[in-house]
Amino acid sequence: MDLDIDALIDRAGSLIDVIGTAITWLSAHTMATLLLVAVLAVIIFARTIARRTSTTDPTRLFTSDQRREGMVRAENRCEMPKFFGLTRCRRRAEHGDHFFPWSRGGATTMDNYVAACAKCNLAKSNHVPTRLTTFLIAMRRRRYFPDGIPIRPGQRYQGV
Ligand SMILES: [Zn+2]
Repeated sequence: MDLDIDALIDRAGSLIDVIGTAITWLSAHTMATLLLVAVLAVIIFARTIARRTSTTDPTRLFTSDQRREGMVRAENRCEMPKFFGLTRCRRRAEHGDHFFPWSRGGATTMDNYVAACAKCNLAKSNHVPTRLTTFLIAMRRRRYFPDGIPIRPGQRYQGV
């Protein structure tokens, strides 16, 4: 048997080169993958903490007493402005809702309660009300709100 030692050494050398290259490639990609996983984990962790400490009112729904009170003080009429704020909506109030949206940090309190018809409530959705809308409602409330009740709509949840 004729063994070509040099050729074997050559082949072994190139095999080691291939394995070395493969290990280098894999470890580089593994590092990148681990880094990506670590970054994702940090983002998920930060978001969880942010959500836990967010200022959402733990009370989502108004009580039936609050709804009744809110409807009475609004004279059972929708409080939302119409025609660019020139008039008050003429429809009957069907919903009591958060003026400053609950999902955006609005409080479930009478100061943040607004009576609205279904159409206005749907249009309002979870939009943060403009200063103009807030002002117009407050001005109109002077006429129909009972004395002693704050007229400015909208209140953010302050936390516990
Ligand atoms: Zn309306």
